[in-house]
Amino acid sequence: MGSNNDVIIIGGGIIGLACAHYLIEKKASVRMIEQDLIGSGASHGNCGLLHFSGIIPLCSPGVVKHEIYRALRGNSPLYIKPTLDIQLIQWLVKFARHCNPTHMTAASKAKNDILKYSLELYNTLFSEYPLECEFEKKGLLLLFKEKKYFEKYKSTNDFLQNYNFGAKLLDKTEAQKLEPAISKNIKGAWFNAHDWHLRPEMLINSWKDILVKKGLVIEENCKMLDFGIENNKISHVNTVKGQYKADTFILTTGAWAPEVNKQLCLNIPVQPGKGYSITMERPDQSPEIPCLLYERNMVATPWKTGYRLGGTMEFSGFNDVLNKKRLSKLVKGANEYLNARDIHPVLEEWSGLRPMTYDDLPIIGKSSFQNNLFIATGHGMLGITMATGTGKTICDMIDKGKSQIELTPFSVERF
Ligand SMILES: Cc1cc2nc3c(=O)[nH]c(=O)nc-3n(C[C@H](O)[C@H](O)[C@H](O)COP(=O)(O)OP(=O)(O)OC[C@H]3O[C@@H](n4cnc5c(N)ncnc54)[C@H](O)[C@@H]3O)c2cc1C
Repeated sequence: MGSNNDVIIIGGGIIGLACAHYLIEKKASVRMIEQDLIGSGASHGNCGLLHFSGIIPLCSPGVVKHEIYRALRGNSPLYIKPTLDIQLIQWLVKFARHCNPTHMTAASKAKNDILKYSLELYNTLFSEYPLECEFEKKGLLLLFKEKKYFEKYKSTNDFLQNYNFGAKLLDKTEAQKLEPAISKNIKGAWFNAHDWHLRPEMLINSWKDILVKKGLVIEENCKMLDFGIENNKISHVNTVKGQYKADTFILTTGAWAPEVNKQLCLNIPVQPGKGYSITMERPDQSPEIPCLLYERNMVATPWKTGYRLGGTMEFSGFNDVLNKKRLSKLVKGANEYLNARDIHPVLEEWSGLRPMTYDDLPIIGKSSFQNNLFIATGHGMLGITMATGTGKTICDMIDKGKSQIELTPFSVERF
């Protein structure tokens, strides 16, 4: 890797680990700086879908109207805390402005590129490394309780077909035959065979162990404070444990990335989108296939050793308060779609902060102010899925100065 051999990655989530993986394959020497423990952020208790078919951005036509309608009916998974936080208000306005057909087409194309690339790289990763994370290629079952949404999904599916990510329509009987754990309330389902799943906290631990054996140096409980800058280059990072020098720096601090905006003259408009999950022992009537409970916008993921319900999107700043009302909504939602009832022992109740951009595209690129700083954040609802594509892209940019996918839609200068 020439003179860029010595790399510091700030932020030990799935994106930081993926960057470390590809850099270590290129024989770079990598140190990871994490304010807490590796994998303690959003990458821990999420739903673990490798949701490659998730190419449609959150900000798509009709979303704002639909969310207002759902909020009035009391069944919206979205919660926005009333606030005078000007940055959040601006973010929300810009999100609403992106809910148009032009952005949907452009963003879907960009997401398709990185998702297909990530799929290919995950295939290689799993064939080369013994990652213990209950990884399975079982697809994703989208379950519908309301006939109108079930039927309306056909036009979404037509759009997905254009990218070869289409799903198969199943009537109620076919759906129950494929997945006997679904409730009688279901009006129909769409089965998408392109999606996979794994247990994210296991992936993090297993991947981290492999990388440490290959030379990754980890500094935990080591919060980054700021950077030392000389002649448009980062010279070192100051942390609560002291100063670390390197040739190249990568910022993978997820929802916390905007903390460096002021010092580095950057504009990273990421907001924390809080989600919740409940992990349980695997129930007797567990589904075998991960299920997306469409009207509730939540997911039920089964693994050999457990079962997780996850979802909701709360804009309430940086906090890890476990709102019991939102947790109980997950259980109530699952009871409407699945036979598995809320009787099994709960192993963990969790919340995590998704790094959300208002155009629902990640930020992957080089800073235009500091020529040895790379940024990889803003992966929103799909950070686990896009991790391999992101890590390989950052590595290629450091190593060769170019990447295999088009990066303009992901650049930090687009804001
Ligand atoms: C309920 C829920 C369900 C989800 N389901 C899925 C799913 O099924 N599939 C999918 O692909 N994605 C899913 N996601 C999204 C996914 O979890 C995120 O996109 C992804 O984890 C982001 O990874 P990251 O590495 O950018 O951030 P994080 O995992 O949050 O890592 C960032 C790290 O940086 C550290 N850090 C921050 N500031 C500093 C500092 N100053 N100094 C040092 N370290 C610092 C943090 O402590 C943290 O560990 C879900 C998210 C939630 C909340």
